[in-house]
Amino acid sequence: MSNWRDPEAWSALRSGEACPICLDGGPRDVLAQLEASWVTMGDDGPMRGYVCLLFRRHAVELHDLDDAEGAAFMRDIRRVSRALAVVTGAVKLNYEVHGNTLPHLHMHFFPRYVGDPFEGRPIDPRSVKMPVYAPGELAGMRRRILEELGAGAEG
Ligand SMILES: [Zn+2]
Repeated sequence: MSNWRDPEAWSALRSGEACPICLDGGPRDVLAQLEASWVTMGDDGPMRGYVCLLFRRHAVELHDLDDAEGAAFMRDIRRVSRALAVVTGAVKLNYEVHGNTLPHLHMHFFPRYVGDPFEGRPIDPRSVKMPVYAPGELAGMRRRILEELGAGAEG
């Protein structure tokens, strides 16, 4: 079952009226604030180096952004992508935009590794045994990603 089957609840989430991100003034586990988005990274990531990028105003679909917002969001996406590639040493980065549970525009970044549990196919975050980090590993990775994001990315 999902919120899709409750038209009022789904509509309130889509409009932003009941959006938990907007009601809280932002997401949890913020690593950095970029031009158009927040970068979040917590210990509940399903893959080492997983981050989520959330657009800073309420929007549901990519086409809800105007041209300037779309370009700014893409600049943030590319900046995060570049930083993750350097810090994680991933063999490939995967990018996913769903919003099926939380319809506030966000993109998931999954660094992929040789020998990861999903090699050769998309990852299934719900089947991952958490946590994926050794003690202290997340803090070090957060610091290195923040350094790679560079000037103006302080949280
Ligand atoms: Zn929202």
